[in-house]
Amino acid sequence: MNRVLSLLILLTCFFTVFAVKIAGIVTDGENHPIVAQVRFLNPENGILLTDYTNWFGRFQQELPAGKYTIEVCKGPEYEIKRISIELSHDTEEIHINLKRLYNLESMGWFSGDAHLHTIYSDGKQDVETVAKACVACGLSWAILTDHNTIKGGIEWTAASKYGLLPILGEEVTTPLGHFNALGISEIVNWKVNEKQDIGRIFADISKQSAIAQINHPFDMKDYFVDWDIKGYDVIEIWNGGSAPNLNGMGNYEAKMYWFKILNTGTQIHATANSDCHDVYSNYSMLAFLPVDKVLSAIEKEFSEPTMKNYVMENESAMRNWVKYGLYPGTPRTYVKATKLTPFAVLKALARGNSFMTNGPLLLIEIDGKGPGEMVSALNKESLNLDIKVFSNTPLEKITVIQGGEIVQEIDVNGQRECILSKEINPDNGSWIVVEAYGPYPVYAISNPIYLSNSYQTTR
Ligand SMILES: [Zn+2]
Ligand SMILES: [Zn+2]
Repeated sequence: MNRVLSLLILLTCFFTVFAVKIAGIVTDGENHPIVAQVRFLNPENGILLTDYTNWFGRFQQELPAGKYTIEVCKGPEYEIKRISIELSHDTEEIHINLKRLYNLESMGWFSGDAHLHTIYSDGKQDVETVAKACVACGLSWAILTDHNTIKGGIEWTAASKYGLLPILGEEVTTPLGHFNALGISEIVNWKVNEKQDIGRIFADISKQSAIAQINHPFDMKDYFVDWDIKGYDVIEIWNGGSAPNLNGMGNYEAKMYWFKILNTGTQIHATANSDCHDVYSNYSMLAFLPVDKVLSAIEKEFSEPTMKNYVMENESAMRNWVKYGLYPGTPRTYVKATKLTPFAVLKALARGNSFMTNGPLLLIEIDGKGPGEMVSALNKESLNLDIKVFSNTPLEKITVIQGGEIVQEIDVNGQRECILSKEINPDNGSWIVVEAYGPYPVYAISNPIYLSNSYQTTR
């Protein structure tokens, strides 16, 4: 976990006065009960409480009296419903109908999270609770990655009965870095004495036909920087424990480093995962804390002033990010696969047939080829890049990155659906990545479409 997140957890407070009962049911467009996420927000008394419906779509909470916004959602393919309600006495049951806006599974896109923790390491909830939260957040597949253990494996596999594709993994946690072994059946030895042992870890993962991910590479001091070590498959450029795409944060550095790797001609693909340790995201309510309380806690926790200055300079962005929550699938990776199997998911992750998002659905194509695929640019003066973005919140802009540089920036202020075709000059760079931005922290980024055949993989 990164330092900002640990700090926020440190600040979490608990309520002692519960007074009013609120209950409800969430159904889909056809009035069938669905498993969904329900959040109760009251900035006045500083409450941001997360709950999940049961298997019958029902929820029940007790809250201090006051004015609340109830926010119901089920991942990026569903609408987000917000209801204002005044709680003064026990209410009758409220009925929330949540429409599915898009069905990406029907187009072969499956969303998942390759980094989740349970009580078998330092997570707050048991395996079943985490699996249920994955379903409520609209994930199709999920990989359990507790630190240096696969004890949750049998329970995790049983989660398939909830309509989730469970895959087993391990966060191989060493003083030299954290590496996810994705799709394993046996524990990977995490003991390292020297840097070369990291190569041994990658080899052990590979022996199990699993894939190796470098986790949150820039989120800790003295962390994984030995990029000469080969044998990993994917790099986690977006970890939910740290604010996305904010200059100065680990995720931003990871993205820029990934661009450098791509510019060396190496096809390494990126992932986005929540690294969720608490499916109730209890620290989210800190978004409503006064800044002096946040800062004094930072002072106690960290002797150097860097973090304090950073939080002050980026206060609004940090609050929005914390309020957004850190749930399974925030962020997530969508993979393109012909069917939903562990093999197909892992293959698509390794090949980069994917995009990463905490909201916008980002589909890109050149000549019928998508992310992770190669397009022949031979003797072509221009190529057409087709971009489709669908979002349950308004979008702000779309950027096209070629060879690490922004080549187009398209203002889409307020739109939720954008269908664009943009001309690309192949001479400007041999790979294309597209980003979609909403109001911070809403963000999505694709894996690259390649425009030449001069790439090598690390294996
Ligand atoms: Zn880690
Ligand atoms: Zn982790």
